[in-house]
Amino acid sequence: MSQIKYFTPGPTHMYPGVSEFLAEALDKDVFSISHRSQAYKDVHENTVNQLRTLINLPDDFHVFFLGSASEAWERIFLNLVGSSSFHFVNGAFSKKFFQYGEALKKQVNKIDAPMGEGFDLDNISIPDVEMIAVTQNETSSGVYFPLQDIYEIRKAHQEAILAIDMVSIVPYPDLDFNQIDTGLFSVQKCFGLPAGLGVWLVNDRCIEKAKSLASSGNSLGAHHGIPELYKKGVAHQTPSTPNVLGIYLLGKVCEAMNAKGIDTIREETDTKAEMLYNAISEINYLDFGVTKEAHRSNTVIVANSEKTASEINESLKSQNMVIGSGYGDKKASQIRIANFPAFSVEDVGLLIEGLKKV
Ligand SMILES: *Cc1c(COP(=O)(O)O)cnc(C)c1O
Repeated sequence: MSQIKYFTPGPTHMYPGVSEFLAEALDKDVFSISHRSQAYKDVHENTVNQLRTLINLPDDFHVFFLGSASEAWERIFLNLVGSSSFHFVNGAFSKKFFQYGEALKKQVNKIDAPMGEGFDLDNISIPDVEMIAVTQNETSSGVYFPLQDIYEIRKAHQEAILAIDMVSIVPYPDLDFNQIDTGLFSVQKCFGLPAGLGVWLVNDRCIEKAKSLASSGNSLGAHHGIPELYKKGVAHQTPSTPNVLGIYLLGKVCEAMNAKGIDTIREETDTKAEMLYNAISEINYLDFGVTKEAHRSNTVIVANSEKTASEINESLKSQNMVIGSGYGDKKASQIRIANFPAFSVEDVGLLIEGLKKV
C-alpha cells in the first residue's frame, strides 16, 4: 500500500488492512458472484451485523445501501417529507442538504450560523415541521453539533422525524440512536474506504412515514424508495446491483474496528484530537478555526492558517504526509486535518512534528 498518509477529510487514508481485505475478496470471487446468490446475501448480512454491533444500532433500525451520502439526502426528502423541514445550516454540507429540499420543491426552513460557528439552541425556535435535519459534523468548517443538543431537539419536537447527517463522524460519537429516526453516512471519511457507498439508517417510524406518504398519493421517486429498500433489505439484498466492493470492505473494516473495540477507537480519537488542538495553539502560523471549544470537531480539525495547505504540503511531502486545504472560499486561509480511526497516535505525533517544521 501507498507510503503516503492522507490526512485529508475524505477521500482519506485507507483503514489498516484494506489491501489485504481487497486481495481476499478477489481471491474469493466476491465481485463476480450474483447479487441474488446466497454468497452475496452472506456478505450483505455480515456487513449489516458488524455495523450494528459497532454503532450499537437498535433492532428497530434498518440499514440500506445507496450510492453516496448525498443520495440519502434526496431519499430523505422523497420518502420522509410530505412538505416541510427545518435545517441547521452552518457550512457547505448542511447547506447542500437544505438545497436538495428546495430543488424538490419542499417547504424548507433554516437557521444559519456563520462558517466556523455552531448553534445556541436557547435562541432558536423550530417551527412545526415533518423533519428536522442536523449535520453532526460540518466537514467544511470543522464544527461539531453536540449530542446533548440533538437530544434536546428530540425532547422538544417528538413529532418530527429527526435526521442526522453523520458522514464525517460516525462511528466516533456514542450516539443514542433511540433519540433519532434516520442517519446517513458514506464510507470515504471515518471508515477509511474507497468512495461510492452511502449508508442510510432508518427506524420503523420512517418505514411507516414512507408508507403513509405513498398511500396518500405522494411519489417516493422512481429509484429505491423505502418500501423497496426494506423488502430487499430483510432478504439481505438491494433493489439493484449493489456496490459489492464497498459493502464487503465496510463489513471487514467494521469487523476490524469491533476487534479493536469502539471504546479504544473513541479514546484514541480524543487523544489525537487533543494533540492536534494543542499543536494549533502552539504553532505560530495556526489558530483555531472554531472559536467555541464545545463546537470543535474531534474528527475534522480545522485551523486558520497563515500558510496555505499547498505550502504546508510542500514541506510535508518529504515526510510522506498530506493534509487538506480549507473548503470553498477558505481554501487559502484554512487547513483541515482528518483525525479518523485510520490514524494512530504515532501518525498524528509525526504529523505534528512535520507541521512544526514548516
Ligand atoms: C462528505 C460529506 C457528504 C457527502 O458525501 P458523499 O458520499 O460525497 O455524497 C455529506 N455530508 C457531509 C457532512 C460530508 O462530510
